[in-house]
Amino acid sequence: MMKVTLDQDRCVASGQCVMAAPEVFDQRDEDGVAVLLATEPDPVHLEDVRQAAAVCPAVAIRVTAGD
Ligand code: SF4
Repeated sequence: MMKVTLDQDRCVASGQCVMAAPEVFDQRDEDGVAVLLATEPDPVHLEDVRQAAAVCPAVAIRVTAGD
């Protein structure tokens, strides 16, 4: 089971996560802060979410994957 957390206080609204994993991340219309669409996304998105975490300039995304 993959678990994702997003620290909105750290987010600098760069949008990198939305480009990497649009099924899991979105941005608020009013300020661009990222929104987590699923805290336990389908495993098919694991690599995309890992990529999103890797490219986030604010290190706001954490992902853990286990059984
Ligand atoms: S990549 Fe990081 S800083 Fe950029 S919008 Fe996503 S969570 Fe926010």
